[in-house]
Amino acid sequence: MRSNKGRKLLMIPGPIEFEPDVLAAMAEPTPSHVAPDFIEVFGHALDQLREVFAAPDGQPFVVAGSGTLAMELAVANLLEPGDAVLVVNTGYFSDRMAAICTRAGAQVTHVRADRVGGAPRLDEVAHALQAGAFKLMTITHVDTSTGVLTDVAGLAQLAQSSGVLTVVDGVCSVAGEALRLTDWGIDVALTASQKAVGVPPGLALLVARPRALETFRQRRTPVASYYADWSNWLPIMEAYQARRPAYFGTPAVNLVLALDVAAAQIVAEGHDRRVARHVRMSNAIKRALQALGLGQVPVAPELAAHTLTAAYFPQDVDGPTLLAKTAAAGVILAGGLHPEIRARYFRIGHMGAVNAADVLGTVGAIEQGLSAAGYAFAPGAGLAAAQEVLLTAA
Ligand code: PMP
Repeated sequence: MRSNKGRKLLMIPGPIEFEPDVLAAMAEPTPSHVAPDFIEVFGHALDQLREVFAAPDGQPFVVAGSGTLAMELAVANLLEPGDAVLVVNTGYFSDRMAAICTRAGAQVTHVRADRVGGAPRLDEVAHALQAGAFKLMTITHVDTSTGVLTDVAGLAQLAQSSGVLTVVDGVCSVAGEALRLTDWGIDVALTASQKAVGVPPGLALLVARPRALETFRQRRTPVASYYADWSNWLPIMEAYQARRPAYFGTPAVNLVLALDVAAAQIVAEGHDRRVARHVRMSNAIKRALQALGLGQVPVAPELAAHTLTAAYFPQDVDGPTLLAKTAAAGVILAGGLHPEIRARYFRIGHMGAVNAADVLGTVGAIEQGLSAAGYAFAPGAGLAAAQEVLLTAA
């Protein structure tokens, strides 16, 4: 039996809660991937993605797969065996990017934070860039394992002035955090549908700017991955943009219908308003946890992402019990992911369609969970702190 009241709020860092109009598109009778109506929708979705990524000179790619495929689509097409890559490492997903670069035959150097929850400073990255002949630098905008936000604008500027290509893993940032590809000189950024873009899992999304496409065209060796090879996908994206039929691999048709709806919502809200809403929701949750005595994984407030919150369990509170009790109170949260601290913390996703009611419901459920797990606190302290943020003028 399906029941709205039995439904829990999904507040994990992806998949997120989706808008009803997006879900309705998923339920449309599936058209042919070369039907004129569908070609128009796919072409329109690609046009809108340029706005979502703030990349008027960018080439979008929409390919069936998860965010990890988007990571591979980015680096496998730019790297050739023996190329040097600098990975700005802020956690689990930076390690994954490094593994994908290694698989493409590259030599990887890491510039790491000095501790979990930190991020390398700009001067450390500048120093590392000078120490090698790098072709490409990767940045994880928001590392979903630590909730750490990197200074993408500053980092991209460093790379650009060193003549190094920049690839941004924006899986947990695009359409939630401030990110402007063209203005900031980022060559490639990527994401996955199930995060702040607000479409069920299954689409790898990527935008490549002219310098990246030029680097790809100058390759001396073929791309090792057949499915990820831009040679196969670029003509397809260009065809849909020109409203012409084309085929390489069958697109995830209903997901593309849903993407067009979600992208229209993002464009209608506008980049700055959308970012400001994410900041507000994030501040409310973070202030609430602070009022309840919970510490956060990012070691400084300016390193904390606005799309999720990573917080340590209070001492003497059993983590799995807290998450189970919070779920029983109606809100699903995520456990830890970073191997060094996995059992000590949890994560709250707050991106995409998230609103004040979701935030208050989440904080209320966490208070219920904490209480059921035997933690002593003033009931309502978290709710009051969140409400204080939410009641200040937007
Ligand atoms: N990068 C980041 C920053 C992520 O958060 C994730 C997923 N949580 C990925 C990459 C991989 O995406 P997927 O799970 O869709 O393959």
